[in-house]
Amino acid sequence: MSKLKVAFYNLSGCSGCLLSIINCEDSLLDIFNAANVVSFLMAQSNNREEEQDLAFLDGSVTTDEQEEFLLHLRPRTKKVVALGTCACYGGVQAMENAKGTFERRFEKVYGKTPFTIVKAFESKPVDAVIPVDYYIPGCPIDGDLFLYNYARLLKELPVDMPKTPVCRECKWQENECLLLKNQLCLGPVTAGGCKARCPSHNLPCIGCFGPADEANLTSEFNLLKEKGYNFAEIERKLRLFGGTKFINSFRELWKSPAAKNQKTQLRKG
Ligand code: SF4
Ligand code: SF4
Repeated sequence: MSKLKVAFYNLSGCSGCLLSIINCEDSLLDIFNAANVVSFLMAQSNNREEEQDLAFLDGSVTTDEQEEFLLHLRPRTKKVVALGTCACYGGVQAMENAKGTFERRFEKVYGKTPFTIVKAFESKPVDAVIPVDYYIPGCPIDGDLFLYNYARLLKELPVDMPKTPVCRECKWQENECLLLKNQLCLGPVTAGGCKARCPSHNLPCIGCFGPADEANLTSEFNLLKEKGYNFAEIERKLRLFGGTKFINSFRELWKSPAAKNQKTQLRKG
């Protein structure tokens, strides 16, 4: 059986997810030997752009050039995998999204600088531009979870990520819940997969694996409000890695009149 053609690309981000793959040192030869790696700029020099079976994308989309790249990539790629929280949800660079216009925020930082090479815009996840087949979140991704899913993908099996929030893994580690110590922990609304690394070191989860499936934001807000946190503190934490998924949920959450009252009260409080 011929090897699958695989490519690794980075968009806007720190490239930490691709670096996490390179850091799988004991398995690096296996990663390259098990597939026909046609493109991986950070790891090899003989790269080529052609039809391929799998493309792993690290980083979010922030320029028109990246959009164009993705639109050319999709038709020549059988399966696209969003790698890391930037590619899956927009990443840290999306945390100010929907707060006024991108142009105003850009001008605040860079002044009236014209775009000369590429046109930049608000950070968005890969699936805002092209269909994505699989998601492997994390900031950065977990090396073991990547290797497990890489092996599955090479056997043409779907990605298999944990479907429960960080709290479940935290319980398996027998940690004392940090919410009982009034710490602002995002474990209940954050996707699992990290083995609850932070709470296991007595640090609250900041949500780096992105939103859990069916995350109950209302309950998390109410719980944290009971612990004495105000709207601005909770929203800022959720925005850090929640990306466009949480920002869209905020819109839903704050639509109801009861929620609007709560928001006003929290802002006053
Ligand atoms: S410490 Fe955080 S992750 Fe652990 S059970 Fe409590 S809320 Fe969940
Ligand atoms: S506990 Fe939360 S912040 Fe820490 S690694 Fe896991 S998902 Fe990321």
